[in-house]
Amino acid sequence: TRVDNPYAGAKGYVNPEWSAKAAAEPGGSRIANQPTGVWLDRIAAINGVNGGMGLRDHLDEALRQKGSGELYIQLVIYNLPGRDCAALASNGELGPTEIDKYKTQYIDPIAAILADSKYSSLRIVPVIEIDSLPNLVTNVSPRATATPNCDVMKANGNYQKGVGYALNKLGDAPNVYNYIDAGHHGWLGWDDNFGPSAEMFKTAATTEGATVNDVHGFIVNTANYSALKEENFTINDSVNGTSVRQSKWVDWNRYTDELSYAQAMRQKLVSIGFDSNLGMLIDTSRNGWGGSARPTGPGATTNVDTYVDGGRYDRRLNTGNWCNQSGAGLGERPRANPAAGIDAYVWMKPPGESDGASKAIDNDEGKGFDRMCDPTYTGNPRNNNNLSGALPNAPLSGHWFSAQFQELMKNAYPPL
Ligand code: BGC
Repeated sequence: TRVDNPYAGAKGYVNPEWSAKAAAEPGGSRIANQPTGVWLDRIAAINGVNGGMGLRDHLDEALRQKGSGELYIQLVIYNLPGRDCAALASNGELGPTEIDKYKTQYIDPIAAILADSKYSSLRIVPVIEIDSLPNLVTNVSPRATATPNCDVMKANGNYQKGVGYALNKLGDAPNVYNYIDAGHHGWLGWDDNFGPSAEMFKTAATTEGATVNDVHGFIVNTANYSALKEENFTINDSVNGTSVRQSKWVDWNRYTDELSYAQAMRQKLVSIGFDSNLGMLIDTSRNGWGGSARPTGPGATTNVDTYVDGGRYDRRLNTGNWCNQSGAGLGERPRANPAAGIDAYVWMKPPGESDGASKAIDNDEGKGFDRMCDPTYTGNPRNNNNLSGALPNAPLSGHWFSAQFQELMKNAYPPL
């Protein structure tokens, strides 16, 4: 007896650990009461890292916050074997072949806790393995964007198996609502990525005992920066007879923003066999793009590039840039039913937590140094060889990055 939209009529779980860090920042109390994702980013996170809260602590606190009303709690399931195959910043603790460890030491214990009847009154929303399945479509041979690690994960099938296993096991509890990660428009919005990614999601969702009924919906833009709605141009516009799809920024993509992408992806997924009530989530934690650089109207109609570049809210150098983006701001505050087909705007990536370190930093989390987080890096085929656009002096991914938190508040849209 799942409800159609777990976000509707419910308040969201406020992670006390994130909330305390936000509240300790000057001005941070303006947003410290927002619900954000609880990331289970390693096996140790189930019991709590370095004396911090574990999964049961969060669920117990969720029961307390719930009171007599309804409450949803968002958990990010993020520990696949060979994690983050196209980048280095969020490489994890499990090697490419460690699928059995993933199942028995990570998913099984989480599933057991979620199935505890003590928590049956909570609406539990797991977001399954961000940035994984799309990599098997876009970052594999023979494409120019291929990486050796993604070729390995494609060949061994452990991403699909891990996602299928997680969906199946976590989905056993009737108060659990699984959402799969579906990238973002600036990654999967091209024709050669869009359909094949939907098919890849279906493959994973029908592997290891999972069925499409284990999938409540999908999330887009997790931890990314793509704008929610570009209002100063549409994909159907042209300038002097040239389509905006031919602009350098759009570069033949079919979509210009996350809302149009999420709605189209939803339709595609339903058409290939997912539930017709599928609901989408959009991570709006860092896609506000407000502040003084926000355009107030369309760009000049000199040519498609002046038109698009002058009007777009997303100020990145390329939509392939993903690390600690300079100029980004907080986006729409979390809320349910914001648009057709969309279950909620959510803050899955906790604002203020780094995407990756700007230089190599020793650590015991398996995290590498990805030059996409270095502001001096001039790029690779995955960002069309642009500068990375990253803020300087960032700590390891997941660690608190005060300067970024301040930047996000400063450039919030809607403004704080
Ligand atoms: C990191 C995780 C972290 C998450 C949320 C990811 O980039 O790899 O360790 O929990 O971001 O901040």
